[in-house]
Amino acid sequence: MTVPYPRSDERRRMVDLQIAARGIRDSRVLAALREVPRHLFVPPPYDRDAYADAPLPIGRGQTISQPYIVALMTELLHPKSVDSVLEIGAGSGYQAAILSILVRKVVTIERIETVAAHARTSLEAVHADNVEIVLGDGTLGYSPGVPYNGIIITAATPEIPGPLKEQLAEGGRLVAPVGDRILQELVVLERHGNRFTEEHHGGVRFVPLIGKHGWED
Ligand code: SAH
Repeated sequence: MTVPYPRSDERRRMVDLQIAARGIRDSRVLAALREVPRHLFVPPPYDRDAYADAPLPIGRGQTISQPYIVALMTELLHPKSVDSVLEIGAGSGYQAAILSILVRKVVTIERIETVAAHARTSLEAVHADNVEIVLGDGTLGYSPGVPYNGIIITAATPEIPGPLKEQLAEGGRLVAPVGDRILQELVVLERHGNRFTEEHHGGVRFVPLIGKHGWED
């Protein structure tokens, strides 16, 4: 049996009080949130508050999402152990670490070099060996890994970038905060041939997606 990372009591409380209590039911998702040491993805001094019910600063004006939002977006992806998933906006690397437990392969794209470097260090510390970090504009997707069973955009976008819809596998799901630069709604697309069904899952607030098919810098 493997020894859990430190602060496992805080993680158990986080999952019970913030995540399961708000209706997240997928037992694999709940287990992943209990397992991944979120405090290793949050730079000091905020690592103290890593298990609080809030987003936190990670430097360069970017944030690690609130734990509940990570759990909700992960559940909405319907992750399966054979899947390959593309994330746009690596940020701290925490969302990628959660996904790395649930799927076969994760590619995560980050546009800020220093942010990507920190994410790489944290992901190595938790031995997330099936995560590849790519530096660049994620609104263009990443063609070497095509097609993806799941795509998750963790930055606010005015609309779903066309290249990402094209890179989604048949039956695949794409989860994204769509709206303006202040407020967005969580949207889930599911691909059926060249048709996409669309679900809406409530209001959220993310930092902007900057790139060719996002906002200007
Ligand atoms: N998923 C992250 C949180 C993301 S914050 C986590 O688990 O911590 C949003 C991130 O998206 C920021 O780091 C920002 O630099 C990045 N970003 C914004 N536009 C991007 C783009 N076009 N391509 C890749 N990354 C982008």
